Amino acid sequence: LRLVDGASDEEERAAELALRPKSLDEFIGQERVRDQLGLVLDAAKGRGRPADHILLSGGPGLGKTTLAMIVAAEMEAPLRISSGPAITHAGDLAAVLSSLAEGEVLFLDEVHRMARPAEEMLYMAMEDFRVDVVVGKGPGATAIPLDLPHFTLIGATTRAGLLPAPLRDRFGFTAHMDLYEPAELERVLARSARLLGIDLRKDGGREVALRSRGTPRIANRLLRRVRDFAEVRAKGVVTGPVAAAALEIYEVDALGLDRLDRAVLTALVKLFGGGPVGLSTLAVAVGEEAETVEVVAEPFLVRAGLLARTPRGRIATPAAWAHLGLAPPGADRV
Ligand code: ADP
Repeated sequence: LRLVDGASDEEERAAELALRPKSLDEFIGQERVRDQLGLVLDAAKGRGRPADHILLSGGPGLGKTTLAMIVAAEMEAPLRISSGPAITHAGDLAAVLSSLAEGEVLFLDEVHRMARPAEEMLYMAMEDFRVDVVVGKGPGATAIPLDLPHFTLIGATTRAGLLPAPLRDRFGFTAHMDLYEPAELERVLARSARLLGIDLRKDGGREVALRSRGTPRIANRLLRRVRDFAEVRAKGVVTGPVAAAALEIYEVDALGLDRLDRAVLTALVKLFGGGPVGLSTLAVAVGEEAETVEVVAEPFLVRAGLLARTPRGRIATPAAWAHLGLAPPGADRV
């Protein structure tokens, strides 16, 4: 796992447990989502009914699972966690749905990656709290209707546009989660430092926040690495220079780019004069699969305004040249 990847593994999930905000008030940033979600939950509580189905869209590590846990806690309801890829048959979904308690919150991560027949079953479950379980095969197959408890589905997806319209339309509330501002990440870091007993100074927090790619999970991960360094080399005090020195060792630069990101930019600029160059050519130049470059490195480079995808190939923006400490071609002609 890359240090600057938004996704997590099992081990990290365990380390994160202590850091998860437990209420909407503790959840930092995403002001609009928080306000809207607060209203949805208050209205549901007022009516004494489970909340409407909720769709959360946004990249990995932005707090979707955390929000699902908060919704369950605020509704005083149990929470079940599953994911689209884990549901490969309609039967898998029927088993989950039929075992829910009344009012339970079901969190389905990567809801856009569910098997098709399961997705169709989910439409009916969301709308009518009912499914048809098909028993048998061929002409003798019969559909047995099954009533379900009223539940709240929280679907998570990296992009709402990935969902088929009939599924998207069945969510009563859709929230888009943006990348966090550095100031918000500083607050996330200050809170985590307090919980973990880390002596994080203001400038230390700022340094880590700027390198965290707008993502709380990455911020918390970098904080753990910086703590290691500070304990060994700086008596446990995380100042700006200490954080910068630590992250230099882990090859996370001032913009949060890691070695792969920088290799892509450097090849683009130094070998291809800033482009345009085709994806596969660029990938060969950095010794990676085209897919790795496209899926792992490019999204953040594009978002950071360092790389652009054009019909003729990838190009480096003037900001990319500047970040590498080079002058873009033609700059001397001005
Ligand atoms: P996702 O489900 O979107 O991948 P998570 O909900 O698992 O993201 O969040 C990743 C980690 O980041 C959590 O452990 C949590 O501690 C932290 N985190 C996410 N959002 C926030 C936030 N708004 N405030 C504080 N911490 C957050």
